[in-house]
Amino acid sequence: MAKRQFKAESKRLLEMMINSIYSHKEIFIRELISNSSDAIDKIYYRALTDDSLTFDKDNYYIKVDTNKANRTLTIKDTGIGMTKEELESNLGIIAKSGSLSFKNENEMKDGQDIIGQFGVGFYSAFMVADVVTVITKALGSDEAYKWESKGVDGYTIKPCDKDEIGTEITLKIKENTEDESYDEYLDASRLKTTIKKYSDFIRYPIKMDVTETKPVEGSENETEDVQVINSMVPIWRKNKSELTDEDYENFYEEKRYGFDKPLKHVHISVDGTVRYQSILFIPEQMPYDYYSKEFEKGLELYSNGVLIMEKCSDLLPDYFSFVKGMVDSEDLSLNISREILQHDRQLKLIAKNINKKIKGQLLSLLNVEREKYEKFYQAFGRQLKYGVYSDFGSNKEVLQDLLMFYSSKEKKLVTLDEYASRMSDDQKFIYYASGESHDRIKKLPQTELVADKGYEILYFTDEVDEFAIRMLMTFKDKEFKSVSSGDLGIEDESPSSTETEKKENKELFDYMKKQLQDKVKDVKISTRLKTHPVCLSTDGEVSIEMEKILRSMPK
Ligand code: ADP
Ligand code: MG
Repeated sequence: MAKRQFKAESKRLLEMMINSIYSHKEIFIRELISNSSDAIDKIYYRALTDDSLTFDKDNYYIKVDTNKANRTLTIKDTGIGMTKEELESNLGIIAKSGSLSFKNENEMKDGQDIIGQFGVGFYSAFMVADVVTVITKALGSDEAYKWESKGVDGYTIKPCDKDEIGTEITLKIKENTEDESYDEYLDASRLKTTIKKYSDFIRYPIKMDVTETKPVEGSENETEDVQVINSMVPIWRKNKSELTDEDYENFYEEKRYGFDKPLKHVHISVDGTVRYQSILFIPEQMPYDYYSKEFEKGLELYSNGVLIMEKCSDLLPDYFSFVKGMVDSEDLSLNISREILQHDRQLKLIAKNINKKIKGQLLSLLNVEREKYEKFYQAFGRQLKYGVYSDFGSNKEVLQDLLMFYSSKEKKLVTLDEYASRMSDDQKFIYYASGESHDRIKKLPQTELVADKGYEILYFTDEVDEFAIRMLMTFKDKEFKSVSSGDLGIEDESPSSTETEKKENKELFDYMKKQLQDKVKDVKISTRLKTHPVCLSTDGEVSIEMEKILRSMPK
């Protein structure tokens, strides 16, 4: 039996598609500009392979114009244009991508920059326009054509006049409705912002007219200028050696990653199994909303210079959520809306790689620019400690070298490695004491014996400290020990004397225990006190400080 073809109600399909694949209407501008850029790329590619053609960069551009009175927005390019047949198939068949065919036919290796592949982006124009008109003249053709469509009820193609090779697309912007205003797509400055957001790194100039009012000798004078609004070459594609710290700082500011000056940046360019470029920043200050629900971690994600996602959270683990920056890769598998990724294998690889880089940067800060690291740690140290605590300690390998605590001996923040390297041979444990403040901890009777032995004590003043350390359990095979735990591993008890003391004071201890009732488990002779008459100690898993926190947590 002969196979039958599926039929589809194409009008409905188009409507469904337009309104369901994109989450932001404004991306239509990204799609149309990407198409224009592809069209110029194709001419460029032709010129590479055809000697009769020359490519003078100055002649190739994209121009965006608005006309508020007519409610039109025009995007014009000097790209390769379309023949009548190409108009029919590229704009008449949904999901037909002339750009993908071009790539395949030409076996473009270095042409992987061409953006189009799905054959649907163009139709996103109908999210904001009632009528879309395309006037185009193909390279090597004398005829120009006008394609016009109101979206749902098909399209017409007619011959028309056009001097230059290229394409001009005019959108008749929808009238405002009660729920939605479309005026922003006619507002030049709003458009400029949107274009900068998505298409700043399109490699050809995107031009717009800007009217500036300048006072000239008493009277106001309006001047109209053509301005190139995109930066074209992204900073991450530039050579590191040509860039200064200031360039990176400017980029940080321009991108509004933060209002501070970044403490450190790293510029990565990887040419391995996945190719990507990335610029990462370690901020100096904590964003005001860092510990609020509103804070969203993530890096900007670009595919070939076109912004795909503003905050790609999969690129950063929670414990590095303070990192700002971007990733650009040509190897991402995008889904049809070019918004979410279909397969995230590449993304996972990039994330893994980036994670290593961030750790490397932090270590180098710590080792080379200690003061800066301490500043960083003041702002984000807690996040690292949470990182150790969460995921059942599986992050400890990454994070333990980055932790710092205040030291009783050094009177400043020290790393665990520094502590361990100072440990004497007879010292069994890494000691810590928890409390509200350094002052309070210093006065704890439990610290006396340890300090007297000459051992260093780490002061834990953050609620998360002890929880994090419990996840680590050991550092370089040395166990952590709270100074208030029962067995400190240093009491050189002489059993006979304690035994007799125990007997002698039995009555007193029993009385004390009775008075304190179930507030204590036992009252014992202590061998660890020096100047204090009494102290509390624990023999269980949980220290007194930790118990306090656990008790204060909502049940
Ligand atoms: P895609 O870009 O993914 O291929 P689109 O729906 O955006 O899909 O565009 C469909 C096709 O229409 C493109 O592949 C291209 O062949 C053609 N096209 C669209 N805009 C232009 C343009 N400005 N100049 C030349 N060809 C274009
Ligand atoms: Mg496209």
